[in-house]
Amino acid sequence: NREIHLAARPQGWPTADNFRLVETEVPTPGPGQIVVRNRYVSVDPYMRGRMNDVRSYVPPFALDAPLDGGAVGEVVASEAEGLQPGDTVLHGLGWREYALLDARAARKVDPDLAPVSAYLSVLGMTGLTAYAGLLDVAGMKAGETVFVSAAAGAVGSLVGQIAKLRGAAHVVGSAGSAAKVERLRALGFDAAFDYHDGPVRDSLKAAAPDGVDVYFDNVGGDHLEAAISAMKVHGRAAICGMIAQYNDTEPPAAPRNLALVIGKRLTLRGFLVGDHGHLRDEFVREMAGWLRDGRVSYDETVVDGIENAPEAFLGLLRGENLGKMLVRV
Ligand code: NDP
Repeated sequence: NREIHLAARPQGWPTADNFRLVETEVPTPGPGQIVVRNRYVSVDPYMRGRMNDVRSYVPPFALDAPLDGGAVGEVVASEAEGLQPGDTVLHGLGWREYALLDARAARKVDPDLAPVSAYLSVLGMTGLTAYAGLLDVAGMKAGETVFVSAAAGAVGSLVGQIAKLRGAAHVVGSAGSAAKVERLRALGFDAAFDYHDGPVRDSLKAAAPDGVDVYFDNVGGDHLEAAISAMKVHGRAAICGMIAQYNDTEPPAAPRNLALVIGKRLTLRGFLVGDHGHLRDEFVREMAGWLRDGRVSYDETVVDGIENAPEAFLGLLRGENLGKMLVRV
């Protein structure tokens, strides 16, 4: 078994030196436990926060111990009722080839219903984040104008498509390259721009001249500032992530226009997908239908080999992914 440990806590941008590849014995299960051969493991932006030694909504990763995170794989040994070798399960012990865990911490999934990687992307936590954030947290209604940042990423690309399917009148996305902007147009976004091409405020004004009702924030900083300026009276923002500042060592310089929240009577509402589990069944039913009918597309960027998981994570922070960044192990 090979697994990735946190070798040192990053200061600012992480590097390969913060990680270590470690070889261990393949574990054997005790009573109530299973061993899973992971097939895909997830790398996610929130993991950067867990590399810092600070108290947050999830505890920090320990030094010199394996990292963890979403994973899907096959049960290869079981001492638990209800799970047999050959079953496919979703669980929380990624960043390794073989995982030993209590059967209660694994959820059986159907490998015939969707490619197993989809349980980490479009049908998993990523998809639910987009669905819950847009519809529940921001309360998007038909006829509204929606802006989403990191729009070619895993969450953002689904936000834009769900918005269109639920009747948004105008959907705008921002992303970090011309190729990503082209992909957004193909996915049905009404307008898209590369945020390197000029101030976000100017690009957003051109893309949504009549203003924005709902902003789905994945980026923070200049994107949030631009959205506050562009939002209409009673606009709502679902504050999902602020990836622009995850590697910062100084407090952010923007938004500088926060006082507009008062006059415009805006709602900026942070959320965690973990609080929206009650929507999971409804979400899976609706998303599975959209996928079956070809009305939602999802991109995955797959890096091979557990030894390359750190590079996949660093690539995610640099924007090298289209859709969900995954490691195939
Ligand atoms: P993505 O697939 O969107 O990958 C991250 C993307 O962020 C990169 O591809 C990159 O694309 C973009 N990015 C990186 N740095 C910057 C920057 N400085 N400015 C603008 N864009 C940048 O990841 P996810 O879909 O998994 O996550 C998206 C956001 O949602 C993150 O902020 C994450 O923390 C948050 N999140 C929150 C959850 C919650 O419960 N609140 C749950 C899941 C995710 P580009 O080339 O366009 O720059």
